[in-house]
Amino acid sequence: MTTALPTLGDTWQKTLQWQPDKSQRALFQKLYKGILQGNQQFNLTRITAPEEFWEKHLWDSLLGIAPWLLPPEQSEGVAVPVQRVIDIGTGGGFPGLPVAIAKPDWQVTCLDSTRKKIAFLAELSQSLALPQVQTAADRAESFARHPAHRETYDLALIRAVGPATVCAEYALPLVKVNGRAVLYRGQWTADEAQALAKAAARLGGGDIEVQAATTPLSQGVRHCVYIRKHSPTPIEFPRTPGTAAKQPLA
Ligand code: SAM
Repeated sequence: MTTALPTLGDTWQKTLQWQPDKSQRALFQKLYKGILQGNQQFNLTRITAPEEFWEKHLWDSLLGIAPWLLPPEQSEGVAVPVQRVIDIGTGGGFPGLPVAIAKPDWQVTCLDSTRKKIAFLAELSQSLALPQVQTAADRAESFARHPAHRETYDLALIRAVGPATVCAEYALPLVKVNGRAVLYRGQWTADEAQALAKAAARLGGGDIEVQAATTPLSQGVRHCVYIRKHSPTPIEFPRTPGTAAKQPLA
């Protein structure tokens, strides 16, 4: 039997001004159970203890969409209207699956280059009855060249996939003009900020807003970087598969 996740309703409320309702809590618990089961077959995550899973997978996934969890009257600025979301390099489904549970009206595509992880996520999202979740096994660089996907997402989420400039090259080509790329980062340095500003400008992005946060249980450092897309991404981006990671934009 899977151990129960902590509820921590007050902590959700204090930190994100939102908390899951009963059915969302049940879905988080089912997700946890599914990930633990999947872990026996695939190397999905090392974060398996209930409190750590709550903080580093559930809470952390939702931190990136915190502006969209606020009541509408408080959510100015980055919280543009959202329908289509993509989670690039989703791995075991983070942040995509917790986001789909918290925002059931959003259509969430979970993309990863590892076919077996995606096959697992397709089954998991079905067993969680999340019809708004789609899965795709592809590299971000190739996916962004399909007309059905290029510049069609309101939000692109990307966590733990590489340096910020590489994440920007994967994410911004998929984002609509006026949409947002959300880079989930730990520490955030002035050098990274400078490199990202330069790279984003070449990719059609600008107006970068950074929100710092501390994780509520272990006091870890987090930064969410919101890049607004202001113009179409030039057709040469993303470069051929593997190039962004080997030669990040400088
Ligand atoms: N986002 C998840 C998380 O935060 O728990 C997983 C992070 S895992 C460290 C990085 C994932 O990105 C892997 O599952 C890998 O297959 C995927 N990935 C790396 N490069 C990619 C690319 N170019 N296109 C699609 N997926 C990629």
